[in-house]
Amino acid sequence: MFKINFFNKKKVTSIVIILSLVVIGGVYLKSKQAKGITNDVPGWSWVLGGKVITIDAGHGGVDPGAVGINNTLEKDVNLEISKRVQLLFEQAGSKVVMLREDDRDFGTSSKLLQRKREDLAYRIQQAMESNADIYLSIHANSFTDQRQQGPQVFYHPDSEEGKALATSIQDSLNKVGSKKRVAKSNQSYFILKNTDMVAVTIEVGFLSNPEEESNLRKADYQQRIAMAIFEGVGSYLAAEKPIISDD
Ligand SMILES: [Zn+2]
Repeated sequence: MFKINFFNKKKVTSIVIILSLVVIGGVYLKSKQAKGITNDVPGWSWVLGGKVITIDAGHGGVDPGAVGINNTLEKDVNLEISKRVQLLFEQAGSKVVMLREDDRDFGTSSKLLQRKREDLAYRIQQAMESNADIYLSIHANSFTDQRQQGPQVFYHPDSEEGKALATSIQDSLNKVGSKKRVAKSNQSYFILKNTDMVAVTIEVGFLSNPEEESNLRKADYQQRIAMAIFEGVGSYLAAEKPIISDD
């Protein structure tokens, strides 16, 4: 039974204050959400609990990757966005394996080509050992035609799951990017074979386009891209199949 006299006046006042703070806080978060700069996790985030996500921030160390029209280095953009993606997944209860967390490569040779090979071999080995559910390789694009722009996601032509994941991430990135693109299959991107990991490569945008390069340097745009990647993975997993317990 509900006893009204259980609450004295002081308690009621403090409950009202707490509720008001919750409401004000909610409005504040909503307004931040509208600007797309919040890290709040969506309702489907439960599907991410316990999932293992491997994030491969492309290039690093002696290998800058693409160099932007105003000299932005791809390796830096890849790492910034990867770290933001990492945080979002960790907040949702996923286990994240980062193949690199700072500006480095994994080669030791003094010869550049050999060093690049060593780096790639290390990444493949680490990715395979991570036994992840999802593998995200994060890169930025560059092209001779400066007008090319927009993020684009790639999957291996033999992977139906890869296609579904890539399409889901692409849909979500299309809400952020300057140009809508379609997820594409591309064999040459994929270094991982004989694995159950669903793998995609995400090109977050074109550093050869001055406007997109400038956006990709900005923290709030990086965050919106990261959020779109996170949401794309989340809605892919939520749509995938009902989770059936093994026990
Ligand atoms: Zn790259």
